[in-house]
Amino acid sequence: MSDYTDLTGTERSFGDAEAEQAVRQNDRQYVFHSWSAQGAIDPLPVAKGEGVRFWDYAGTEYLDFSSQLVNLNLGHQHPGLVQAIQEQAGRLATIQPAVANDVRGELAKRIVEHSFTGARSVFFTNGGADANEYAVRMARQHTGRQKVLARYRSYHGSTATAITMTGEPRRWANGVIDANVVHFEGPYAYRSAFHAESPEQETERALAHLERTIQFEGPETIAAIVLETVTGTNGVLVPPPGYLPGVRELCDRHGILLICDEVMVGFGRIGEWFAYQAFDVRPDLVTFAKGVNSGYVPIGGVVISEDIHRTFEQRPFPGGLTYSGHPLACATGVATFDIFEREGILERVRDLGSRVVEPRLAEMAAKHPSIGEYRGRGLFWALDLVKDRETREPLIPFNASGEAAAPFTAVVNACKAAGLWPFAAGNRLQIAPPLIISEADLVTGLDIIDAALDVADGYT
Ligand code: PLP
Repeated sequence: MSDYTDLTGTERSFGDAEAEQAVRQNDRQYVFHSWSAQGAIDPLPVAKGEGVRFWDYAGTEYLDFSSQLVNLNLGHQHPGLVQAIQEQAGRLATIQPAVANDVRGELAKRIVEHSFTGARSVFFTNGGADANEYAVRMARQHTGRQKVLARYRSYHGSTATAITMTGEPRRWANGVIDANVVHFEGPYAYRSAFHAESPEQETERALAHLERTIQFEGPETIAAIVLETVTGTNGVLVPPPGYLPGVRELCDRHGILLICDEVMVGFGRIGEWFAYQAFDVRPDLVTFAKGVNSGYVPIGGVVISEDIHRTFEQRPFPGGLTYSGHPLACATGVATFDIFEREGILERVRDLGSRVVEPRLAEMAAKHPSIGEYRGRGLFWALDLVKDRETREPLIPFNASGEAAAPFTAVVNACKAAGLWPFAAGNRLQIAPPLIISEADLVTGLDIIDAALDVADGYT
């Protein structure tokens, strides 16, 4: 029996050094990688994936607790998604956006039906960053204002306005591409910028800070506030009670639009179709990508309110993309809705999060001094690792790399050596497995993290 099939269709077995070398060779010779010094990386050659696992060429198995950049919500090779691509490719592989297409319309309809009251239509993009670009462009066109407010500790993508809105070091070397972006601090009670002593106080002070920012910038110049509903890569920061309704109230008071970036948390990650649905807030524009089809074919988009849609009823919207609403991507999006309903994904995520993950993390926090705080919801959690629980000094300094990051790297390596691929960011081990994960696999992964934290404890 073969272990995997190579790109020529040949059946291969794990441990075939020649096959592995060929993959490595082409990658190192010809592929230019994201966010990396090309000479300093040695990417893992992956032979195949199945469900919540993937394998390298040696046959080493990894339980995926990262969902491949928090993307692969339905896991590798989901039969329903593979079939949707095959069937759609047989019917109509591609068609330009200016025509009406059955599967594109069906996906837009399903998304609108599962969105906020007053949602009207969907503009499809190629991914998350351009969804944010287009949401901002719509907000500017609709309001006639230019500024956008975005938060520190955020990632919104790597294109022009999206990278400028990003509030963390990935922006630095790219400079300011969009001069009309202003940053502010969001709530993060564990490391409060506002010296708050309770979540309620954090909400109150974070909102007062936002209001001051609006006043200093001039409310009539601000088109939109853009925020990740639950901050993703920068720490799984769940908004404290009242914060998002408070932001909405400020938006309403000043004629500012609210854009929720749901690229990472939309489509089930915290157990809701969209994360804003858990926080009693109505956005004007919502951006999505990743989970809409588990990344099987690139797609993202913007959900648009009736009010904003109406602005472009008679006036042309100045923007578009060749691949907008690509049929192969839309077919997998429609299949995603069917699979979520058939497999009860949202209910599973809520159940596993509250019944399995949360109590287990509480148990770990009681025994590992390196856990400063654990936080999250559904199947999206972060362990904020510290050197000192009293002072809350992070396990490694902010933006550390190389030697300075060694304690955290050691924890990540301990996870990998035990067969778990974690989602590691800054000083945080983040937990984001595919949403189809079984309870047994979830517990296995948590056991591995528990054991790896002994390594972190050694640095406290
Ligand atoms: N917004 C958020 C919250 C994200 O997490 C990401 C990517 O991780 C993006 C936007 C950018 O998406 P993409 O990489 O598809 O452009």
